[in-house]
Amino acid sequence: MEAKLAVIRGDGIGPDIVEQALLVLHKIEEKFGHKFHCQDVLAGGCAIDAVGNCLPQETIDVCKAADAVLLGAVGGPKWDTLPGGERPERALLGLRKELGLFANLRPAMIFEALAGASPLKAEILEGGLDILVVRELTGGIYFGERGTKDTPMGPAAYDVEQYSEGEVRRIAKVAFDMAQKRNKHVTSVDKANVLDSSRLWRRIVAEVAKDYPDVTLDNLYVDNAAMQLVRNPRQFDVIVTSNIFGDILSDEASQITGSIGMLPSASLAVGNFGMYEPIHGSAPDIAGQDKANPTATILSVAMMLRYTFGLGAEADAIENAVKAVLAQGLRTPDLFTGEGKLVGTQEMGAAIAAAI
Ligand code: NAD
Repeated sequence: MEAKLAVIRGDGIGPDIVEQALLVLHKIEEKFGHKFHCQDVLAGGCAIDAVGNCLPQETIDVCKAADAVLLGAVGGPKWDTLPGGERPERALLGLRKELGLFANLRPAMIFEALAGASPLKAEILEGGLDILVVRELTGGIYFGERGTKDTPMGPAAYDVEQYSEGEVRRIAKVAFDMAQKRNKHVTSVDKANVLDSSRLWRRIVAEVAKDYPDVTLDNLYVDNAAMQLVRNPRQFDVIVTSNIFGDILSDEASQITGSIGMLPSASLAVGNFGMYEPIHGSAPDIAGQDKANPTATILSVAMMLRYTFGLGAEADAIENAVKAVLAQGLRTPDLFTGEGKLVGTQEMGAAIAAAI
């Protein structure tokens, strides 16, 4: 197949890790006979430096014209003193909005060779861990009405949590579709004992569940879900939740795996379009030093092949190559515990590409 890819290398380690992800993608092209036409565009701090705007219109246009977007990371201390609205990270919110990316998919899985990196006891994780957090990304309190007002206790600020039935139905369908291809279990997380918006959420998720009789649905309150994630994370398959709860729970789930440099993510729009990026930031402390772990970005390419292009065998090939390289004992500095072979960003990327 032929497809168009917008590539945003971004700041910090972004260029280091995207380079390796593209190396792996080229290996997939060679081996499976595909062609991805890649176009580089700017976003984040490098775009501020080049054109004075963290998300230039050209970037939006190229991304919209592409079939998928691959992103490294944006931000860094150089731009930290800019006012909030002008900081590089605003590019991410802008991209989500402009590209209609309403569903954020964050897998939290433990690679057998790295089980020791988890902060949880080995017996809690026996048999591995494979959770997919499906977070609503364009609604809820982060995008609701906000403002300030006077109250008897002094000036107050507020942010409104609001969800429409359509927004909930849309994200619930994504979660059930994913569960059908996995272990057929959805856990919907809300705060329906307190919030009206959560009661609507729960009612609509239950309605959607009727169209998926082969998938089991459970509901959990968010406080219980946060506890269950560290008590018994293996009970979860797909977790679906709102923007703010998903923000927090997906970080918690990723910490359980113990290796931030290993975890990919996808943000999907209606249809097959998606933006793919590692869950970590631009790690300015190790940028340009051949120390960053490129695996999260490489696994983001696997997600892209699977979700946007429907290329399951190619995605499997990348994931198996990552497992093989870990099993050989190759470790970037973030994973190195004294055993195995310490390698840099480029050697890790080359080894994964070679294992495909
Ligand atoms: P971070 O994820 O960049 O780094 C946290 C720690 O993890 C650092 O010690 C870093 O060296 C390490 N780390 C991260 N990715 C790694 C990798 N692939 N390999 C090895 N080690 C890795 O988070 P931070 O330090 O809070 O943020 C740095 C910058 O990134 C900030 O400007 C922040 O706003 C931005 N950020 C961007 C995104 C994004 O682009 N999606 C996400 C989060 C943070």
